[in-house]
Amino acid sequence: MTLQFICPKCKRVLKIKAEYVGRTGRCNHCSERIALIGDPAEPGPQMATLVSAVLEDERHQPVPDELCARLLGLGVPQEQVDPMDLAEANARVDFEERRLRNAKPVTDKQLSYLKKLGARESQILALGNRDEAARLIEDLHVSPTPKQIHFLRELGASGADMARLRTKAEAAAFIEDLQRKMNV
Ligand SMILES: [Zn+2]
Repeated sequence: MTLQFICPKCKRVLKIKAEYVGRTGRCNHCSERIALIGDPAEPGPQMATLVSAVLEDERHQPVPDELCARLLGLGVPQEQVDPMDLAEANARVDFEERRLRNAKPVTDKQLSYLKKLGARESQILALGNRDEAARLIEDLHVSPTPKQIHFLRELGASGADMARLRTKAEAAAFIEDLQRKMNV
């Protein structure tokens, strides 16, 4: 059975299998992260919820005992569970369960390396498998350096320009461009 959800961002209608109700995913059209919170018995279009809105609701809310137990059961250490709020706990449960289901899960070694490289928690928890983790590691290795960012700011690069630059190589090329333009 398929249900219809409306993406709250692009307003297009998505056909969703009933078993996906209650889960999160990305809109096929605009890639916005949406939560399919709705009534599985309702065939007509229902409005999906932005994941960011759900997270905002769950932030700073305590984690129920049952969810704590699930996290511990999934092998998350107590000292990591203790400081979590509901949003963090739900994201971590999703992530750990995805790891269990995946044939090529993100490895513990990749996880600790990603933390060392300064990956954000949200980047880590969005990873689907070890290939994606390897790509993120690669990206982080070659991200623009703090020195480059500082230099780009001095050269007057806009926020949008900075956001576009994903690697050290791109940043270097852009710095060269800016310097060339300034010399003209
Ligand atoms: Zn959309």
